[in-house]
Amino acid sequence: MYREFFKYEVSKLEPYELLTDESKKHIETAELIDFEDLYLEGSEVLIVKYQRITGTLLDGKALKILEELRVRRNKFTHGLHRDFIEPNYIVEAIAEFLTLIWGTSWISDFRDVMVTEPLYGLFDDDEENMQLLQYLKFFEDYLSQRKFKKLIGMPIIGRRYLCPNCQENVIESGSQIDANYACLEPNEPESIEIHCWLCHGYSEVERRECSQDSCRSNVIYPEDSWKIHVNNICLTCSGEQGN
Ligand SMILES: [Zn+2]
Ligand SMILES: [Zn+2]
Repeated sequence: MYREFFKYEVSKLEPYELLTDESKKHIETAELIDFEDLYLEGSEVLIVKYQRITGTLLDGKALKILEELRVRRNKFTHGLHRDFIEPNYIVEAIAEFLTLIWGTSWISDFRDVMVTEPLYGLFDDDEENMQLLQYLKFFEDYLSQRKFKKLIGMPIIGRRYLCPNCQENVIESGSQIDANYACLEPNEPESIEIHCWLCHGYSEVERRECSQDSCRSNVIYPEDSWKIHVNNICLTCSGEQGN
C-alpha cells in the first residue's frame, strides 16, 4: 500500500520520475514502447524522490517503519516463511503509515472512494459515517487509545461522548456499534458543546448530572431536541433522564 501512495504522490507532480533512468532513455527514442515494458523505481528510490519532489521530509520514525515493512515484505515474498505475521502487526503498520505519512486527511481521502450502499433510512454523509464507524471500531480494537486517537486526529486527553447525530443514525440503521467519538469543544471541563470526530458536527449539551445511579457523567443531550432516539439522554451511558 505504501508504495502505491508514494507512486501516486510522485506521479501527480513529476510522472517521469516514476521511471528508472534506463526506462527514461527508452521513452526518449522513437521506438514504440509499452508502458508495461518500462521499469518503475523501487521503493527505496521512490521514497527519496517523494521527499524531494513533494518537499515533505519524513521523520526518523516513519523511515524506520518503512524499512521494517520492506524487510518484512521481502521475507514474505522471497523468504522461507519462518516468521509469523499477526493481524495486530498489520493493523498497527497500517495505522502508523496513515498517522505518520499520509496524515489525518486519509479519512476524507478514503471517503472520496468509499463505496456506499444505502442503509435503511440513511443516505449520503450519514450513511458514509455509519460505514466509517465500522472501520474506526476495527482500528480501535487493535490499537492503544493513544494511537487510535492520533490516527483519527482526536485530542489525546479528555473524555469521549456519544455524538447525538451519529448515535441517532446508529439506532435508525439498526447497528449495535456506539458512535462515541465526540469530545467537549473546546476540550475543557465546563464546555457546553461537543464536537464529533466521525461526522465533524457540533452539538450543544447541558451540563447536569446523569440521573442513572451508576453513571457519574454530566453531559446530557437536551430534551427539546427533534431527534427521537437520543433526545434527553446521557451522552456517556445513553440512559434516559427523568424530567
Ligand atoms: Zn457525529
Ligand atoms: Zn449517564
